Amino acid sequence: MNIPFIDVKTQNKELKKRLLKRAGNIIDNADFIFGEDVKCFEKEFSAYCKSRFAVGVNSGTDALFLALLSLGVGPGDEVICPVYTYIATAFSVSYTGAKPVFADIDEKTFTISPQDLEKKITKKTKAVIVVHLYGQPAQMQEIIRIAKKHNIKVIEDAAQSHGAKVKNKKGQWRYTGAIGDIGCFSFYPTKNLGCCGDGGLVVTNNKRIYERLLMLRDQGRKGKNRYLHYIKGYNSRLDSIQAAFLREKLTMLDKWNEMRRKNAHLYSRLLSNIDGVITPFEPIDKYHVFHIYALLVKNRGRVYKELKARGVNAGIVYHCPLHLQKAYKELKYRRGDFPAAERVSKEILCLPMHAHLSKKQIYFIVKKIKECLFR
Ligand SMILES: *Cc1c(COP(=O)(O)O)cnc(C)c1O
Repeated sequence: MNIPFIDVKTQNKELKKRLLKRAGNIIDNADFIFGEDVKCFEKEFSAYCKSRFAVGVNSGTDALFLALLSLGVGPGDEVICPVYTYIATAFSVSYTGAKPVFADIDEKTFTISPQDLEKKITKKTKAVIVVHLYGQPAQMQEIIRIAKKHNIKVIEDAAQSHGAKVKNKKGQWRYTGAIGDIGCFSFYPTKNLGCCGDGGLVVTNNKRIYERLLMLRDQGRKGKNRYLHYIKGYNSRLDSIQAAFLREKLTMLDKWNEMRRKNAHLYSRLLSNIDGVITPFEPIDKYHVFHIYALLVKNRGRVYKELKARGVNAGIVYHCPLHLQKAYKELKYRRGDFPAAERVSKEILCLPMHAHLSKKQIYFIVKKIKECLFR
């Protein structure tokens, strides 16, 4: 048996006929840019996560970049983000001319540490980007309390957490992305909700931010006249064809997330109480959607290689925290500056995870892990 880390093919096979029919309609109508499907998808997605407004854009990276611009972030400002995330979280800050400032993570949830976040706030801090890493919701209650106290905005990077939820004090579930000031999503094909190419989206409850985002994604236009430009905008639109595919897949998201959770819970049950292995932490007030199923394992490098030799393609997401990336050498951080992120990056081992992973595959993977650990 050879088990891939991710499998996008199976999910698209299931939907292929429906996707092709939708693409066919758009080709027949030449409704490629800002078609009906874009409007409908924005409505359906904002209704899904219970946010007032949604703006489709061309990637998750641009969702973050335009979100920052819509808040007026620019040169001279600082934006705090976790040091352990995908690089685009920090790049989006750099594109605006502002300076990314890193905060360490909480070792249990792998999301930003509220304590370290508060320590990093200065007079220049405009916003914090919180990442719901691997599909695990960040500690939003704590983070929002800190943000309010210091008058900074909260942007949620929900690129890995479509459909993930947090229970509030009143016992109501709230969707990640729709809790802070702005939420940013990616529809890169391997995400929990992915299109067949690049795509992204921003949600907000704030009408002024929404109106700015509409101009920012479409060359600074507003209103009917195509050749009047009110601000220096960008070309960052979500294609009609991608929006149409996403409408189809959005109807499957809850089911696919449930399948991911079932797979994750089986892994955790089979891997619990093994010396040197820590399974994902799941607080009862969080609905984790397992974009990635991540273990902490001693001797990670050896286990990773030996699993591969046995036909199990695990992943290491991520082996280098942002402060040690060459791209950020000008920030002059050093090894040792972020102990939790550094430890996690040395021990993280991500097992194959997608909705269509079978029970048989999971048993096989677990058997191979045990072979590697107790050889
Ligand atoms: C995927 C991802 C992004 C970027 O999304 P793209 O659509 O690839 O631009 C940003 N942040 C996180 C945490 C991601 O996982």
